[in-house]
Amino acid sequence: MRSFAAVGGEPPLIARAKGSKITDVDDNTYIDYVGSYGPSILGHAPEPVVTAINKAARHGASYGAPTESETKLAEAVTAALPSIEKIRFVSSGTEAAMSAVRLARGATGRAKVVKCIGGYHGHADAMLVSAGSGATTLGVPSCPGIPVGAAADTILTPYNDLAAMQEVFGESGETIAAVLVEPVAANMGVVPPAEGYLAGLRNVCDAHGAMLIFDEVITGFRLSYGGAQSLYGVRPDVTILGKIIGGGMPIGAFGGAAGIMSRLAPEGEVYQAGTLSGNPVTMAAGLATLQALQAEGFYESLEERSAALGLGLEAAAREADLADKVCINRVGSMLSCFFAPPPVTDYAGATVANTKAYATYFHAMLDAGIYLAPSQFEAMFVSAAHSDDDITQTASASAKALRAAARLMA
Ligand code: PLP
Repeated sequence: MRSFAAVGGEPPLIARAKGSKITDVDDNTYIDYVGSYGPSILGHAPEPVVTAINKAARHGASYGAPTESETKLAEAVTAALPSIEKIRFVSSGTEAAMSAVRLARGATGRAKVVKCIGGYHGHADAMLVSAGSGATTLGVPSCPGIPVGAAADTILTPYNDLAAMQEVFGESGETIAAVLVEPVAANMGVVPPAEGYLAGLRNVCDAHGAMLIFDEVITGFRLSYGGAQSLYGVRPDVTILGKIIGGGMPIGAFGGAAGIMSRLAPEGEVYQAGTLSGNPVTMAAGLATLQALQAEGFYESLEERSAALGLGLEAAAREADLADKVCINRVGSMLSCFFAPPPVTDYAGATVANTKAYATYFHAMLDAGIYLAPSQFEAMFVSAAHSDDDITQTASASAKALRAAARLMA
């Protein structure tokens, strides 16, 4: 069960969803900005995707054998992201991140991986590390059940701090297999990359023979058809994908240059396999989704709506006299309303947020029929199904909800 632990109360049980709305078992309908935590860029249950899933399921859900649809989705993704010449599909973002890290270690013969404090790359042992402070910190597992050794080769640096990254490489460059980063941080709330940060990571990796891995599980096909790498013009060695490319079905993928990917078994020696990887139902849902995303003006129209929501939230913050206490971060159709002073540029800035004020805001929004993520440190996702009316309604509910939250921020 998905928990409301961070905001209190019991989550509604969702019965169905269509377009921008989700409906619970008691027939309460909400405008939804969780969007399944990212996949639902077309809104819920879009007709072409539902049709594709039905059609594929009638022919069998899984064969354990190659299919045409798997090849077609691979072609569509590699055409969209030139850094990916070869791709492998798996069943979750966690699996993709875990496999990409193994590939980088196998291909470089090095053990250490650098990740950002507050960056999320799924729940594999070595990646579930973010505790610590200061410029650089050695990995300490963030949760019980992870042996210290499993995280010992994970090095942490603050997101957006290129100097800290250079320092890490100065100390241990020859032992670092890869830098793993969300190009736009989305799991500390939405935090855009500082000017030059991603290009700087590219340079430092090149200088030390390490791989640059972009985790585009959230940003892939969301920020543009070519993902964050196209938006910011930085080419990673390996890209991790998930969410949108599966059209709401379970998926993950990782890919890169043919030479790197050929290190994977059975061609190479780095083992990876999965029973349900590339299953035809998921592939069909992904293909139908990518096709819809190629419609003329899709991303422009999503940007317009998202910008209107961002401006609406900023106006609501001013109305509630919170302009200096609330920070609206937006990159394309991903937004966060931090109950923290602007600007929020990293994990340290995000985590000073007043989470009690967010909880009050969250419940006031839920009462007004707006469904947000039950955590300050998640993104709001705008979809193509959100109407102008939805946006206006959300902004005006925000003005009221922010006033309620303001009492906790005096
Ligand atoms: N990477 C990022 C950036 C994510 O946001 C997530 C999940 O939210 C993952 C990896 C893990 O994906 P999954 O939940 O499909 O395992």
